[in-house]
Amino acid sequence: MTNNPNQHQVKAKKHLGQHFLNDESVAQKIADSLTLQGYKNILEIGPGMGVLTKYLLKKEVTTYVIEIDSESVEYLKANYLNLAPRIIEKDFLKYDLNAFFKQENFAIIGNFPYNISSQIVFKALEMRNQIPEFSGMFQKEVALRICSNKGSKVYGILSVLVQAFYKAEYLFTVPPNVFNPPPKVDSGVLRLIRKTDYSLPCDEKLFFKTVKTAFQQRRKTIRNSLKTFNLSDNLKANSIFDKRPEQLSVQEFIELTQWIENEI
Ligand code: SAH
Repeated sequence: MTNNPNQHQVKAKKHLGQHFLNDESVAQKIADSLTLQGYKNILEIGPGMGVLTKYLLKKEVTTYVIEIDSESVEYLKANYLNLAPRIIEKDFLKYDLNAFFKQENFAIIGNFPYNISSQIVFKALEMRNQIPEFSGMFQKEVALRICSNKGSKVYGILSVLVQAFYKAEYLFTVPPNVFNPPPKVDSGVLRLIRKTDYSLPCDEKLFFKTVKTAFQQRRKTIRNSLKTFNLSDNLKANSIFDKRPEQLSVQEFIELTQWIENEI
């Protein structure tokens, strides 16, 4: 399981968001961010040359990896012989993981490709029934956004949708110089732990739609942004409609959805 000196290092490809981490202690810290509670499988997205993977393989769970880059896959097969049967050479955004994991739970982890990091989170949210935990590295700004609360400048769609179902913790910041090639921005590691009761007391589809519509126009009041919902004047008289979306907590978005649901 050690590096094979005969195997060429993978050449970083920009269009795949490849920034390889070359600091072992950071890799270990990310791998150790998982609590391992409530699942027996881990899925690492974008293992690259396996800097995180080698720490995951030491844990008492089964590690799968999904990697789009065939050159990285060749590298992994040559260097991590035991991993070979659990390498999925696919695009995470397109692959049917429900079919792969059947009913089983799995945690997601990774030093994610930053060009698709929000899409990764949205796809994970769709599979939340099977994902008790999610941790890993994003651009710092995105990690902070996911973990931020109402009133913050960066509070937005990702913050509300993630925190409706997960407890979000920002863990630590990672500087550019521990990557090859270094990214232009700082990175941030977060951990999401699914809430014990993560079914919402409102229509979940409508909740997603309400949050997304409200934040499409950040500077406008909820009354203005939700015009297309054709709500009654009576409902819109409620003071929550005077607020802008960044002033609403997750709980208030849930209440708002309940009221809308009662009307339509
Ligand atoms: N985890 C490694 C690599 C991080 S770079 C490290 O820390 O060094 C991001 C990785 O995600 C790359 O290996 C890239 O090939 C992979 N990747 C990019 N888009 C992907 C996708 N859609 N599905 C799966 N993997 C992807």
